[in-house]
Amino acid sequence: SQVTDQIKDRVAIVDVVREYVPELKKAGVNWKARCPFHQEKTPSFTVHPGKGFWHCFGCSKGGDVFAFIQEAEGIEFPDALRLLANRAGVKLEKQDPQKESKRSRMLDILRLGARWYHEALLKAKSGEVARHYLVSRGITSQTSDTWLLGFTPDAWEGVSNFLKSRGYRDDEIAEAGLSSTNDRGNQYDRFRNRVMFPITDVHGSVVGFTARKLSEEDLGAKYINTPETAVYKKSSILYGLAVAKQSIRKQDLAVIVEGNMDVISSHQAGITHVVASSGTALTAEQILLIKRYTQNIALSFDPDAAGQTAASRGLEIAWQHDMNLSVVRLPEKIDPDNLIKKDPKLWEQAIADRIPFLDWVLERASSQNDVVTAAGKKQAARFVLSWITRISDPIEQAHYLQKLSQLIHVDESILRSVLNKHRSVRHPAAESKKSPPPAPRKQDILALSSVRLIGLVVFERGKREFDPLILTSDTLRELYKRRKELYDGHIDLFDAELQSLAREVLIISEEYRALSEDQRNHECMSLVNRLTHGKTSQKLLEIRNQIHQAEAAGDIQTLERHIAEWQILNQELHHPTHADKKEDNQA
Ligand SMILES: [Zn+2]
Repeated sequence: SQVTDQIKDRVAIVDVVREYVPELKKAGVNWKARCPFHQEKTPSFTVHPGKGFWHCFGCSKGGDVFAFIQEAEGIEFPDALRLLANRAGVKLEKQDPQKESKRSRMLDILRLGARWYHEALLKAKSGEVARHYLVSRGITSQTSDTWLLGFTPDAWEGVSNFLKSRGYRDDEIAEAGLSSTNDRGNQYDRFRNRVMFPITDVHGSVVGFTARKLSEEDLGAKYINTPETAVYKKSSILYGLAVAKQSIRKQDLAVIVEGNMDVISSHQAGITHVVASSGTALTAEQILLIKRYTQNIALSFDPDAAGQTAASRGLEIAWQHDMNLSVVRLPEKIDPDNLIKKDPKLWEQAIADRIPFLDWVLERASSQNDVVTAAGKKQAARFVLSWITRISDPIEQAHYLQKLSQLIHVDESILRSVLNKHRSVRHPAAESKKSPPPAPRKQDILALSSVRLIGLVVFERGKREFDPLILTSDTLRELYKRRKELYDGHIDLFDAELQSLAREVLIISEEYRALSEDQRNHECMSLVNRLTHGKTSQKLLEIRNQIHQAEAAGDIQTLERHIAEWQILNQELHHPTHADKKEDNQA
């Protein structure tokens, strides 16, 4: 449609993809990286900026920039459209509210709710106590605006009434997490008489709230959160990321703190590569979110919480993705917010003095155990080894074994033998997984050769032709038949199965740009030979089966006919007349 074309003209697909896949690198006319949608060691994920699409040769996923956002964000087309329209500065026509997706209505409710809370903080008479609280925490009014801080009055139907006046239904307000229902079935505001901290996703859309109580008479928890909703998944949110992401990329480091207030005061002090995890266990989703911007994470939790965090699955994920984890050490009982109040430079220095996670583990082992006694040594060794065993790099592992040995004065070789025992218990599967990747199957090689051959024809815009029978599947023959439609990259007209192959053909056709005509002739001959050879082998196999059947049936006549066929084909295969020997050997 017109709008999608307009958006595609304005956003560069490479820029969009690179936000999610920072390692995307230029390779000829295409861009390549390891696929974000399946696990792989070598890059088969390709972006083709000229034609505006992406394709993975590993998992066959692909499509245009909208398809990428849908896949990467796990959202439907209308929401991907909204997101990219925003980015491109293209105005979408006001949609029929009935047709608007449930998700986008929910985001509207949350955005309007956040505005309403913010207005109440600025203007409501009863908001005085909230304003006073923020001033006492050293929050400036500019900071309040930046983070859209708010206040919710002590009323049963404050924000609910406002939202209903804007045309939203009770059930929608409840599903967005802004109201609760009591035993008698009456709906009322979930958050009352609290300071409101809107939580946004990475794009800056409000998805939920953290609310802090203002009155000691309030018997509820000090902080309450929006429950999990269709748009608020606690495990995949990092507070402040929308504001901090550029700075994280620039500094090549993400500092993760515990509290929202730590984030806000750090940003206010000009230290802006800081985000908060909701809760202390880093999740896999959060790690992958950070990985879009940096490989380096510094945890600034109190020591016990840091241990807990690291013990979570998040750490394994971080290591699996080659991310570097370090720990920012703070004076006891002091959080970043307190430290910044004393002097922002102290916080800056603490970040600069961060130490690698395993150094921190060693430090902790020595501070918590009396490493002079046998029992203390055993405790310390057990603690440190439980981490060392997860290191995959042998040099790094040796480095920390040596350090542990020095710390507890136990010979390295002894520690290593303990470690090996440890490992065989912990990772029975790890060793067996190391077997080399299977060689590509013959059939895959032939299918790829087919794609390469069609790609060559497309690149030369039909300068040459070949017998489609040598292609390995009907789908490929169909694609070859419709090759003219590929010249201009109009792949939208193909159905899903053909489209995936069409993308492969187009990407590969671009690779011929680097070859001279001679090289292309050579490549063409070699591909045709390989495919012909493959076809003949396949036919031989079929004839052999027919021979077996005829034998079993005692049908001498058929048997003799098949044997004759087999001999001719076999001759052709092993003494090719139409290609030189060297070519054949390579195939
Ligand atoms: Zn893939």
